Amino acid sequence: MSLHGLDALARAIGEAAIVADPAQLAARRHDYWALSHLRDHVGRPAPVPGVLVRPTGVAQVQEVVRFAAERRVALIPFGLGSGVVGGVIASPDAILLDLSELKRVRFIDATNLMAGFDAGHNGLAAEEAVAAQGLTIGHWPQSVAVSSVGGWVATRASGQLSTGYGNIEDILHTVEAVLPNGELVTLGKGPRASAGPDLRQLMLGSEGALGVITGVVVSLRRQPEAKAFSCFEAPDMRTGFELQREIVQRGWRPPVMRQYDARESRRQDGDATGCLLLMAHEGPAGLVAAETAAVRDLAAAAAAPERPGEIVARWFSHRNVVPSWDTLLSRGLVVDTVEVSAGWTDIGAVYDDAVAALKGIDGLIAGSAHSSHVYRSGLNLYFTFAVQTTDPDQMEPAYLEGWRRILDATARHGGSISHHHGIGRVRRDWLAGEIGPSGVALLRKIKSALDPQGIMNPGVLIPDA
Ligand SMILES: Cc1cc2nc3c(=O)[nH]c(=O)nc-3n(C[C@H](O)[C@H](O)[C@H](O)COP(=O)(O)OP(=O)(O)OC[C@H]3O[C@@H](n4cnc5c(N)ncnc54)[C@H](O)[C@@H]3O)c2cc1C
Repeated sequence: MSLHGLDALARAIGEAAIVADPAQLAARRHDYWALSHLRDHVGRPAPVPGVLVRPTGVAQVQEVVRFAAERRVALIPFGLGSGVVGGVIASPDAILLDLSELKRVRFIDATNLMAGFDAGHNGLAAEEAVAAQGLTIGHWPQSVAVSSVGGWVATRASGQLSTGYGNIEDILHTVEAVLPNGELVTLGKGPRASAGPDLRQLMLGSEGALGVITGVVVSLRRQPEAKAFSCFEAPDMRTGFELQREIVQRGWRPPVMRQYDARESRRQDGDATGCLLLMAHEGPAGLVAAETAAVRDLAAAAAAPERPGEIVARWFSHRNVVPSWDTLLSRGLVVDTVEVSAGWTDIGAVYDDAVAALKGIDGLIAGSAHSSHVYRSGLNLYFTFAVQTTDPDQMEPAYLEGWRRILDATARHGGSISHHHGIGRVRRDWLAGEIGPSGVALLRKIKSALDPQGIMNPGVLIPDA
């Protein structure tokens, strides 16, 4: 951006909101997408953004959006940068809108069980603020400490306790957003409304392409009265899936239900030979007692022996510890995780096909999965693949091949190609298979109605024409 342009922006939002420090600009070139880290590793880094702005208030966000719209400059919202699908890649002629200083707690209402936050508020800090009043948001993505409440909405995120407490779309009460023309909208009123289409859905999963989320009101719960863990070992994945189906379709809702394949089970517990099913039960003491007894009976009927609850306790205490991409890449390991979902009748085939397909990749040293979010109609699978290669020219092709094989296997069996990380750049080519060509055309119409100049986060979500 020209100096003249920068002066005008500084006049609009105040000089303090423009970050000039080159290290800070460089640190925000991209989100946590493994491929962006891989490209850094092989010496093909994403460019540094032209301008980094860090507003502290909603009016400033409106000014930045109007400024970008008037000059047709690309604007890239950046929450806390934990996205893993390439939702943020800067360009030298774009403005990166860092929302991390938009972080007030707006209110906590312990009677109506709602809390309002500025969109850049850190997820764990939000949870701690309500926990101090005996309440919980109940949204625990593994990235809770490094993601923002606005980012949760923009990516349609899921927490580790989603089977009981729902995903972000079930927790979101109200979303406030600045549209690409600078107008502010506040969507979502009352505990439920029948006031036409639910426009909050326009922002859920919008990935920065339809506006800037500036505020989020979430529905809260009281902290549970009782908690318990249970663990069982199914002889194989399909038996475990059937046991999970029986549990949820009978009406039980353990907030945590995670089933690991044999490879991943051994990582949870060295003695495991089959597929571990970990559950956490939370709620009124009577419900927890009834649920633990019921799942024990159902597991016995499925010939899935009980294992120590200690395995679940161990998972809870280590659940957010993950190695960094850079550590893995420095060891010549190309690794990523891919989450998908499918109905009960198809999930076994998705698992078998994807794991078999991964085995065809040169240098593959691991291809495994677990499920972690369960519904009456089906569940997700969270694949991990690892390819060993020290040849920098082979790293990106190996990476893309891992993704292609998992998404193709999922689509072949009618599953959804993304359960909770979103589309970003890595999944755009599969979107037409997911929502159909007319679905993509509809999305393009919505985008061009809201953002006729295409300034909002170009390159994400919507496949190229
Ligand atoms: C270790 C690790 C574990 C993870 N575990 C989970 C998990 O359990 N569940 C899960 O769902 N995800 C998980 N994720 C992915 C990621 O944390 C989520 O996608 C999260 O919601 C992103 O929030 P963020 O604030 O970091 O967004 P960013 O990475 O900053 O942005 C993500 C996308 O949203 C857009 N965006 C962000 N904020 C706004 C806003 N205010 N307005 C408009 N657009 C915006 C950006 O433009 C971008 O397209 C994990 C990531 C990591 C690194």
